[in-house]
Amino acid sequence: MTNIIFCNEIVDAIENVVRKPNQSNDILLHEPYFKDNKALDYVKDCIDKAWVSTSGDWVTKFENKIKKITSSQNAIAITNGTVGLRLALSLVGVNKGDEVIMPPLTFIATANAIAHLNATPHFVDIEKDTLGLNPEILSKHLKNVAEKRNGVVFNKISGKKISAIIVVHVFGIPAKINQLIKVADEWDLPVIEDAAEALGSKVKGKDCGTFGTLGVYSFNGNKIVTTGGGGVIVTNDNILAKKAKHLSTTAKMEDDNGNIIHDQIAWNDRMPNINAALGFAQLEVFNERLKLKRLLAKNYIESFKSIKNINVLQEEKSSEFSNYWLVTLILDKDLNDISFIRNTIINLAKDRGIQLRPCWQLIHKTEMYNKCFRSNLDISESLSKLIISLPSSPQIVI
Ligand SMILES: *Cc1c(COP(=O)(O)O)cnc(C)c1O
Repeated sequence: MTNIIFCNEIVDAIENVVRKPNQSNDILLHEPYFKDNKALDYVKDCIDKAWVSTSGDWVTKFENKIKKITSSQNAIAITNGTVGLRLALSLVGVNKGDEVIMPPLTFIATANAIAHLNATPHFVDIEKDTLGLNPEILSKHLKNVAEKRNGVVFNKISGKKISAIIVVHVFGIPAKINQLIKVADEWDLPVIEDAAEALGSKVKGKDCGTFGTLGVYSFNGNKIVTTGGGGVIVTNDNILAKKAKHLSTTAKMEDDNGNIIHDQIAWNDRMPNINAALGFAQLEVFNERLKLKRLLAKNYIESFKSIKNINVLQEEKSSEFSNYWLVTLILDKDLNDISFIRNTIINLAKDRGIQLRPCWQLIHKTEMYNKCFRSNLDISESLSKLIISLPSSPQIVI
């Protein structure tokens, strides 16, 4: 009974933030928003000019805007975040049979991108304050299982080459990226940042996605900015940027006589102009949008202040800046009957038309990836049971 009171108290605190008086519509986890931007005009421009496919001004404008927002030297717009991760991994030399280190608490796409190259995930545990890869555990784990032979890192136990590390900035909270890069550098392993959820998030003023060799953002329908479907790769390495564009554009070139030729097997991964137009309109108001997201997070934090046994996942104030893509609650691990409490909260909210979401299925628990190599994953296993993500559309606070 007391549990039910506790659960209701939590749902009240959520409803106080998300529901305006006299409003009865369903409140979803994260919805696109176009009322604050010129998306309709720009998409109409594509249609009027019949420039709707993979070349056109809006793609260039979109890429330039991403460069500006993230302070990166290069941006390559692509069809989605999964494709971006797969391209980035392939660009740093991930090959068939390799292992790529990644955390198990992320969206399935992170692992799929590895598998699409016939490589396998190698799971390393996370860190409780950011839900990102844990630098201390990573460092110890590599000392235990890895060895370097002729400049190549091998997993001594599986015998496979370890060829990269993917760091994920979960829910837009920055991972401990500087510490992680330091560990990666000790082994000369390239870091790919899965910043799919983290456009606008920063560590000490530097954008998540720009620390590693390459970073990837997603513009899927539920992300902070959407192009319908889409993604972008950023990098400060001009050579890799050229290769990314080439590999994502069927490796197309012109010879001296103006013939179109192709010099390798490649992909068709470029973002269409019409999608870029949709996204560009939102990037124009990106700063305002970030402000709304952060105000929403602040409102939640305020609303949960007086409730015990539950915390809002937050940026570390002195060095981190989060886009608060999905504001997330962490239940106290010492609560009795956690799974009952979590399910009850989610169901009570659903009855009131409010969509909440538990954590993803941990990737090492899925049928496809349950035999992959791993460190001890106790922190991921324990935290995943405590997570509830809250409705986080920026328009909630408008
Ligand atoms: C959304 C997301 C992706 C994949 O992006 P798509 O554009 O949906 O392919 C990858 N990783 C994480 C963490 C994501 O949230």
